[in-house]
Amino acid sequence: MSSNIPPLPTQTAIARTLQATSLAVDLLYLCDSEATLNKVSQWIGSGPRTMLDGDTNADIMTSIIECVRERVLKGAHTFLVKVKAHRGEPLNERGDTQAENILKLPLECRQWTTRTQRLTYEWHDNDGVNHVTAWAKTVRNSMIRGGAEFQRQKTLNQAKNNWKAFLGSTDIGLHTIGQAASTGAQSDLMDSMRWGWSCILQLQEEDNWEKPAATTWAAEFLLRDCESLEFLGSWINSSDVHKAKNRRAKQVITCSFPCGKWLHMIGARASLGCELCKRERNMDRKTTDALPTETLAHIQSAGCKSQKKSVIDAHNRCWKYLIGSISTHGELCRDKRP
Ligand SMILES: [Zn+2]
Repeated sequence: MSSNIPPLPTQTAIARTLQATSLAVDLLYLCDSEATLNKVSQWIGSGPRTMLDGDTNADIMTSIIECVRERVLKGAHTFLVKVKAHRGEPLNERGDTQAENILKLPLECRQWTTRTQRLTYEWHDNDGVNHVTAWAKTVRNSMIRGGAEFQRQKTLNQAKNNWKAFLGSTDIGLHTIGQAASTGAQSDLMDSMRWGWSCILQLQEEDNWEKPAATTWAAEFLLRDCESLEFLGSWINSSDVHKAKNRRAKQVITCSFPCGKWLHMIGARASLGCELCKRERNMDRKTTDALPTETLAHIQSAGCKSQKKSVIDAHNRCWKYLIGSISTHGELCRDKRP
């Protein structure tokens, strides 16, 4: 190809070669038009903001981008290499001669032989479709979703272990396994996630199992369906919510609220007993042995001696509010006429 060739034929040539090359093989393309290579290069890992606006050859560029995108998805390598013009017929030369030529290229021509510094990310969406893009909001969301799915699977795995240890060898357990296995390849047993759910549900229904079915009560609550948990998510993400409240909610659902049990676990407090109960007992001159564990549930419930009054007051306030609303609005008759 001659360097006098305007971009249009050069771009057409690249597009045609890409269309004609199988996705199963790598492609080494030698091109003498720096302008064309620059045009293609700006699309590599460029993100969603690169536009074809004002491109006079937008249709050809679209074809090139589409072909390269398909090649990337299929894992086929595409090398577009700048060569000097008027050097015979490089495309007719044997492959090894071409490779030698590339090595002999001056440095300024090698920019297309090096990898771009821009990172691209690859992930599967909910439908199992593979995506490859530069950094974008969708990548961030996929990472967050991936992290959540990992945690969910970890919790389900713990439920499976709990089930195995508690019900696995009992008659109920063996019956469940037998029943699931008889469903064949579609059975819950064949699917790690579905079997985990099944274990959680069975443990929750079991009267003699008094611990969380999987890891923690918080995890179990967050995995429950139909609890409007999306509102918890949007509340945490809302910028209108005060930071302290936001932090407290996150601490609660991640089981890292700095209560006595947690502080004891990280070595910041000698005892895991409830400080409030201790204070109460000291005032009553009672022994402070065998204090209840200072868990979040404990300090929020009437189980904690010094919280008893506030919890009962809160309960009564809710009750009064409900009774008040029922009596005020229950018999309210609005005039619906315009
Ligand atoms: Zn207490």
